[in-house]
Amino acid sequence: MKSFSIKTSARFEMIDITRQIHDIIRESRIESGICHVFVPHTTAAVTINENADPDVPKDIISILDRLIPRHGPYRHGEGNSAAHVKASLLGASETVLIEGGQPVLGTWQSIFFCEFDGPRTRKVFVKVIVGS
Ligand code: ZN
Repeated sequence: MKSFSIKTSARFEMIDITRQIHDIIRESRIESGICHVFVPHTTAAVTINENADPDVPKDIISILDRLIPRHGPYRHGEGNSAAHVKASLLGASETVLIEGGQPVLGTWQSIFFCEFDGPRTRKVFVKVIVGS
């Protein structure tokens, strides 16, 4: 298993990690298989969406903030319930197919680390598994 760290700089942020995932797949020398990306956090997530237009992640951030307001009413005493809910909605992992030593992504797709309770230093775990 590989891992890397991310230093986030805002409370709510989507960071494109496609390059790091690409590099881990290349270093694995696996031509065909799957790549599993997992974040070991309860207030962060990973998702795949468009980054060709930077307004797409901005829209995702703004609609999530409208759907799940920062201030309650919530029961959880830490004051970050909204971040926990957002993390569960987007999920802690994504799986990407690998063909020809490359992640199989659509033209407009990028892999994003999603911070919902930053700024913090976060971890991303990546497992590359061989198989056709
Ligand atoms: Zn909490």
